[in-house]
Order: sequence, then C-alpha cells, then structure tokens
Amino acid sequence: MAFPAHPNTQASMQARTLLLAGSDAATLTEWTARLRECGHEPLTARDRSALLYGLQHDDHALLIVLLGAESELEWLQAARQLVTEHGLPLLAVCDSTLRERAILAGASECLPPDISTAELTMRLRGNLRSAQAIQDLERERRDHARTQRQAATGCFRFDPLSEALQFSDEGLRLLGLDAAHAPASLAQFALRLPGENRDSVRNWMHACAGGTHPAPLELLWRGTNGSGQALRLCCGGLEPRGGREIVYGFLENKPEQRRAREQRRNHDAADRERFLERLALLLSRSKAGEEHVAVLSLHISFERLGALSAEALEHVRERTEARLAEQTRDRDLFGDCLADSQAENVAILLPELSRPHDAYKVARRLQEDLHKPIVHAGHSHLVEVTIGIALAGADAANPAALLHEAREAEHEARDEQGGSIRFRSAALNSAVFERLTIESSLKRAIEHRELCVYYQPKVDLRTGRLSGFEALARWKHPSMGMISPGQFIPIAEDTGLILPLGELVLEEACQQGEAWRREGLMPVRMAVNLSGLHFRSPDLVGKVEYVLRATGFPAELLEIELTESTLLQHGDSTMARLRQLKSMGVRLSIDDFGTGYSSLAYLKRFPVDSLKIDQSFVRDLTQDPEDSAITTSILLMGKSLNLKVVAEGLETQAQLDFLKALDCDEGQGYFFGRPMPAEEARALVEKQILFGAA
Ligand code: C2E
Ligand code: MG
Ligand code: MG
Repeated sequence: MAFPAHPNTQASMQARTLLLAGSDAATLTEWTARLRECGHEPLTARDRSALLYGLQHDDHALLIVLLGAESELEWLQAARQLVTEHGLPLLAVCDSTLRERAILAGASECLPPDISTAELTMRLRGNLRSAQAIQDLERERRDHARTQRQAATGCFRFDPLSEALQFSDEGLRLLGLDAAHAPASLAQFALRLPGENRDSVRNWMHACAGGTHPAPLELLWRGTNGSGQALRLCCGGLEPRGGREIVYGFLENKPEQRRAREQRRNHDAADRERFLERLALLLSRSKAGEEHVAVLSLHISFERLGALSAEALEHVRERTEARLAEQTRDRDLFGDCLADSQAENVAILLPELSRPHDAYKVARRLQEDLHKPIVHAGHSHLVEVTIGIALAGADAANPAALLHEAREAEHEARDEQGGSIRFRSAALNSAVFERLTIESSLKRAIEHRELCVYYQPKVDLRTGRLSGFEALARWKHPSMGMISPGQFIPIAEDTGLILPLGELVLEEACQQGEAWRREGLMPVRMAVNLSGLHFRSPDLVGKVEYVLRATGFPAELLEIELTESTLLQHGDSTMARLRQLKSMGVRLSIDDFGTGYSSLAYLKRFPVDSLKIDQSFVRDLTQDPEDSAITTSILLMGKSLNLKVVAEGLETQAQLDFLKALDCDEGQGYFFGRPMPAEEARALVEKQILFGAA
C-alpha cells in the first residue's frame, strides 16, 4: 500500500506551500477554496501568533494576508521581517481603501477581493517565479561566499576607465578591512602598499584590462594594525558591463593558505614511527569485541588533472591539503608525498569505532569532501581519491601489518577505478554493498512514498478494550520483498533519512486516526516512534504541531514513543522539546524501557506519561525469575511515579495472566494482534473489546 495523497499534508511536506492568514473564518474558507481552484493547497493561520509560527517553522513559498479588520494590518508589520529574511512575496487581499496602508505596512502587492480566478492564477504564478529566482540567486551568493572563505580566496573587480575597485566580502576579510573602510578605487588601494608596489599594481591592473593575462602579482599589504602581509593578485579575465569590459580577478592571502598546509606538515613530522607507536598503544587498550580500531589508507591522485600549470597544480594541492586538515583535525594521520608529485598517500587512524561500518562512513565523508571540484582562475579541477580500510583484529593484529593491509585494500580499490572505497575484508565489502543498496532505494522509497504504516493494537489489560495503536513503518521493496524495520531503521538513522521517514509515519498515522474519527468510530490513540535525531532537530515541535493542524487529529490522541537513549542524549534540549510537546497535549512514552540506564531520579525530571517494558523482559517473564523481578520493579517504579505501564511483546495467555496479576495497565503483542494494515486495524476499532477481561 502506498501512502494515499492527502491534499493538506502532502502539500505541507513536499512542495513549499502558500500560507493564508486572516481572522475571519468564512473569508478564510472562501479563499482556501479559491486558491485550490488555482491549483494551490494553502495552509491557514487564524491569528497573529499562528501566522508568525507558521512563517518560522515551515518553508512557505508565499504569504497571503486577508485584510478585513485594522488588526490584520498589524499582522503585516509583524510578519514583515520574517518575510524579508526568507525572501517571500507578501500579498494582501484588500479593497482600495486599505491599499496604501497595506503597502506601507509591508505588503509587496495588493489583490482586490473580487479578483478573477484567471487573474489570481497569473499573479500567483508571477510572484512565485520571481521569488524563486531571488532565492536561487541569494543561495548562490551564499555558496559562493562560503567557497571563497574555505579557499581563503577573495574576488575583485576593476573598472579601467574610472579605476573603481570593488572587493568581495572574503576579499575584504583577507585585507583585514570592514565594508566601511573598503578601498573604492585603485588609488585608495595603493595607499596601503609600499611605494615600490604602487606603480606595479597600476601597471598590472591595466595589463589585465588589455587582455594580456599577466602572471600573478605579489604585493606587501599593510593591514590596519600596521603589520605587513603577503598578498597575491591573480587575473581572472574580462567581463562585460554597461557596454565595456571590466577586469575581474582573485586575491589570495598567502600566509592564511599556508597555515592549513603547515598544520598538515606538522602532522607529517609525526612520521610513520609515531603513527605506528600510537596505533600499538590503541590496539593494546581497545576492548576486543566492544570497539574497533581501523586504519584508512588514502591515495590522492592528481594525475587526472592533465597538463596543469605549476601554479594551478599548487593551488589544487593546497586546497586538497586544507580540506584534509579540516576533516581530520582531531585524528592521527601521517602522509608521505610521492616524489613525482602526481599523488599523495595518507594514512589515518580511527580509534573507538562502535561498528566497522563507522570506518566506512568516515571514509565516505572524507572522499566526498575531497572530490568536490576545486576552482582556480575560473577553471574547475577534480582530484581522485581511493581509500582502503583495514580493521584491527579482523585483518591484522600488529600495527605495521595493519597499515600494510590498509594499503593493500587501497590498491584493490584503485584497481576497481571510479574512486572507490574498499575494506580489506570481503565480508565487510558485501555488507557495505548491501547497505548501500538499501540506503539508495530507501531514499527513493521515502521520496515516492513507497513505505507504508502498519498498526499494532494496544490493549487495556483491566477492561480488555482497545486503547490505541502503535504505528510501525513497513517497506515492501519491489525486488527485495518485505524489508523489516530492524534492517532499514538503523540505516535510516545513520543517513538522517529517519527524519523524513518519521514525519511520513507521523503524518500517515494522524491522518488515519482522524479518518476513523470522522467516520464516527470511537477515537483511538496513535503512538508514533521518533528517534534521537528528531529530538535534536529544532523544528520538531513545529512539525508535530503542523501535522496535527493539517490533519485535524487532536493532540491528546497522539503519543510519541522515544527510547531511553534519546532521553539521555542532549538532556536539556530534549527536555525543552518534550515540555513543549507536553504542553500541546501530546502524550509521551518511553519505549524499550529497562534496556537503558535511566534511574528513577532521572526519569522524574521528564514529563512522560508511560513506560513500555521492553519485550526482552516480557518474553521469559513466567519462567525467568530475573525477568519477572525486573518487570515487577518497573511496574512498581511506574506506579510510584504515576506513570502508565505498557508491556510489549505479549504473546501468551500465561504472560497476560502474570501481568494482570501485577496490575499492569496495558499490553501490546502478538497475543492481541500483529502489526496490521489500516483496513484490518479498522475492524478492531469497530470491535473495541479485544479479550474478555474477567
Ligand atoms: P518498537 O517501537 O519497540 O516496536 C515494537 C516492535 O515489536 C515491532 O517490531 C513489533 O512488530 C514487535 N512486536 C510487537 N509485538 C510483538 C510480539 O508479541 N512478539 C515479538 N517477537 N515482537 C513483537 P517492528 O515493527 O519490526 O519494529 C522494530 C523497531 O523498529 C521498533 O521497535 C522501532 O524501534 C523501530 N521502528 C519501527 N517503525 C518506526 C518508525 O516509524 N520510526 C522509528 N523511529 N522507528 C521505527
Ligand atoms: Mg515503539
Ligand atoms: Mg519497543
């Protein structure tokens, strides 16, 4: 089953939406219908705070405010700053009497209330298009500034006719100046150069303007604190402006560029011997079976660059080294530059990995970063990086052998071409391959909404009534068949895909719960699992609120399940988010309870409503005295904290009897029902009583 398309929520989660605000309910409904006619699915805000909240928490494409009363003019003013920050068009719907004031208050355009559908469609399209273009430009500008910063390279433009000179933000930073003190002309720039440089810079700039593309010019620049710094100007070429041509070029601050390089060189000094000593120490300390130590061997090849000028090659090497230094800041590494300067070998030590796969993740991140194009004098260059990975224990026991195995793996990777990454162990290579296959199809599955949700009943053990459902993600892969959450949830967590996946399940569960409620069936609680990553994301609360608003499902019927480890990570921000959810009326439940380390004192701090005893304790409850002791103490603890306790994995009558005798509140497990598709779950909602409680 694919997710059915729900107009509201689909719009909210996929494409960027229109936000429609107004205090008059009837007008809001009317305009919602009008916008639908134009092919848009708006989200609505009925008051000022909902409007501001919507603007802050979602990625809207356009805001329309229905101006009926004076108060809404004030909404415009309040929204103005956010709207400008996000580059959104703000349209006001008002009659001619309010037009001028609307524009003064911040509206970018006014629409008459009786505008025709055809005209409205056109105006919306025009606004959306130009907003998109502005946002794209802004994004490009930011990316560009970031790249310049990373490369410690700025830009300048020089108009040979007026001798006006302009620097990019990064250029000014390299000159140690703020915008207010930026030199506006060549003469002003030259003032801070030593006398002998002044003529040469003028001659050089005009040579650039003449199209001769002179060699880079080295200058001594006097910073605001009087100290001298070595600057280098590189000619980029000419670009047309206003019917003539102006010079553009690059500005580099050599000491800054060199700093990154020297950091690397210092590491290099920690030669092979030190690297091996350190590796030996780590190997002797690492706890076998609990953590892994890996060695990565990188081969960075400049061969593919073809015939580059010495200067361009130097630039590429510097950038590559700076990236490597940035990515391996806290790691042990040593490198040896090959004599022919066509390639560089680097070894990196990765201690304390919880899984072998983490070595692959680090390798991939490194490779992705090093593979980004390097731009020099308007041309972009690519280096090729292959990586071999050897794991202590599995591949070799002593340091020198481990380093050797990593090199071997790297040679295999190079034989494969295409800049690949290989483990020395064949088993790990195929495990990685399987993971990568799942990873890439999971991404597609989420985008195409190919995942679906199954519902597993939770039952009130005192009455035998259905008390709610837990929504669980299911994935029917077109060729691999049913893939269990056990396989894809950890991958989704690793790759961040758990965020859209969780939202999909949340959305679907709320939508389903609301659909049943609208049918007149008994309202049911829906529990949704959220991962630690969700609690680290600042817009979690906004998203939940949004989904509730978009689907109409009451907050009181939504329950969020989170694990103990989620609670323990990032305590303060998680706590703040839990409090916000709680104040909205959402219930909170701790999943797999008993497997983590939460103490009673710790638990008391969190505003949770229930605990779910992990199924591992319930499984052997009736036979294993230790499990029954743990279950009993969790129940007592729950009661003393006034928390509802739910037993997971309840499969047998004997377990049920035992739990009832202990006065456990709720149960969930195959005994009452497996996770099932919505149609089957609906039958349980109708039936309500799932077992005779007497
Ligand atoms: P969970 O949240 O603890 O969910 C309960 C799991 O126990 C479900 O496995 C369910 O099918 C299984 N189960 C229920 N009753 C019984 C029983 O009587 N016996 C046995 N042996 N198993 C039972 P499922 O659906 O395979 O999910 C596994 C885990 O995957 C979930 O554990 C949850 O941690 C995660 N997961 C599933 N869907 C989502 C999701 O949408 N988001 C997130 N973040 N995690 C999810
Ligand atoms: Mg759960
Ligand atoms: Mg569980």
